[in-house]
Amino acid sequence: MGKELAVELHVPRHLSRAGNGPGRRAVLLAAVLAVSAAMPDRQQPPRPAAQGPDLPAPDSAPDSAVSTILHSGPDGDAVAANPPAAPSRAWVVDTYGKRPARYWGLEAPGVLARMPPAAPGIALTFDFCGGPGGSGFDQALVDTLRQRRIPATLFLNSRWIAANPAATHQLAADPLFEVANHGTSHKPLSTTGNAAYGIPGTRNAGEIYDEVMPNNDVLEGITGKRPRYFRPGTAYMDDVATDILGALGVKPAGFSINGDGGATFSAAVVAREVGKARAGDVVICHGNHPNGGTAEGLRQAVDKLLAAGMSFTHLP
Ligand SMILES: [Zn+2]
Repeated sequence: MGKELAVELHVPRHLSRAGNGPGRRAVLLAAVLAVSAAMPDRQQPPRPAAQGPDLPAPDSAPDSAVSTILHSGPDGDAVAANPPAAPSRAWVVDTYGKRPARYWGLEAPGVLARMPPAAPGIALTFDFCGGPGGSGFDQALVDTLRQRRIPATLFLNSRWIAANPAATHQLAADPLFEVANHGTSHKPLSTTGNAAYGIPGTRNAGEIYDEVMPNNDVLEGITGKRPRYFRPGTAYMDDVATDILGALGVKPAGFSINGDGGATFSAAVVAREVGKARAGDVVICHGNHPNGGTAEGLRQAVDKLLAAGMSFTHLP
């Protein structure tokens, strides 16, 4: 954890394109087109629903234009046919090290941004990012969930766990909550060093392994189980990264409702945004900013949703 970043998800939106300027976007788009031209056999129709429904951009999600531009369709690279039960770093580098990424954004193919149509309720997810200024614990938020018996999936980063060992054990021991992986150093998951919100991403397949597996081991040491889901810092991923996640045995998690804008929204805005959730939505908020508007806004929203007969569920 020596290379921790001083910034986290909560970078003001005007900075959010710093690492993603038109130059890089143009380059990536050109790369996408070049790949498409070079591989006519891969000019297939869009991926079938089984590989991830074609999702609308999440409400209030920044940079959805980038996602749209790069959401260019065919993705011929699947998860390796027979990944070993416990792939090594060398195997990941060997298998994925030379694959070109064709997508960069919040909804790479295979990312769970919405639950299947028959989902019984709303999935609330909370990131605990850690790092300087991001290692708080929002006890009021957790109390709200417990008092109302609302299940939730908690994405814990290694840095946050290191700063909050007692809270981590308390959360992991509560069957109301499923604990999931929010990365080791809180980096966007890229095979080429793409940045999101000014945070540099991983630079290659080996660094993706390093971002996932150490924290997987930390979480397994606490819960006794391998985590089922992974959401990288900033939630940005490329399509090779999601394939690597599949080989490593974790599912990439996105979101359909940005509930607290990286813990920057006021309580009123959190209440309004989370209040839009319906069955099947995956809501992202944060549990590491006790002085923000998330806890109060979430309390208002869930009380309204419960009164309207909505229910809540873990991720599938
Ligand atoms: Zn985070």
